[in-house]
Order: sequence, then C-alpha cells, then structure tokens
Amino acid sequence: MDKVVLIERTTLNNILGYAQMLHPREAILLLKGKVDKQRILVNDAEIPPLATHGNTFSTFPLHMLPIDFSIVGVAHSHPSGVLRPSVTDLNKFYGRIMVITAYPYKSEKNLAIFGRQGKPLKYEVI
Ligand SMILES: [Zn+2]
Repeated sequence: MDKVVLIERTTLNNILGYAQMLHPREAILLLKGKVDKQRILVNDAEIPPLATHGNTFSTFPLHMLPIDFSIVGVAHSHPSGVLRPSVTDLNKFYGRIMVITAYPYKSEKNLAIFGRQGKPLKYEVI
C-alpha cells in the first residue's frame, strides 16, 4: 500500500518560489522530513550543498551527497512545462519521492510527486 504524502504549505511555496527565481534554469532542492509506517511528511526544502549554477537534475552528482536520513527525496523544476519525470529522472531517483514542478510554478497544479517507478502519488498540502 502506498504511503500518504504530506507536504507543508510553506515548503511547497518555497519550492515554487525557488523554481520561479531560477527560471529558465532548472532548480534542484533536497526535501527533508519524516517517514513512518503510514506517511511521508515533507517539511523542508534545502539547496543541495554541491549546487552550482548550471547544474541540472540530470547532471547533479546525487551520489556525492552526504548520507542524511532526513532526506526524503529531491525536487526539481521543468522549465519546459512538462509535469512528468523523464527517463533520466527515473534513473537518478534518490530517496523515496520525487517532486517535479513545471513552468509557470504558480500553485500545486504545477507540482506533482512521483514514486520510484514514476507513478504519480497523491499528496496533501498541510
Ligand atoms: Zn526532470
């Protein structure tokens, strides 16, 4: 059974805002939170320590990140406006969930959360 994904409103707004700010470049954020039996809670989004301008999700060295068990996944933006993961995205899956926000990054209509196989997950904004 799929876990319920909960994302805090502030964190969601931070992801959208960061994507708007970096547009037309691609934004990458680490998602932090808590996982238990029933749910995945996302309550923070941080700029990755190795982020440099020009990195895109597909070129970002995820394997070089420090091991941090509070990381529940990665968010990145799609300046193209396509709200689904590419094959490369799925190959680079890190953590438990993948958040994609697509241009124009205005609201949760422009944000989707995917599981490992690229399946869209239902989420609630809290
Ligand atoms: Zn992507």
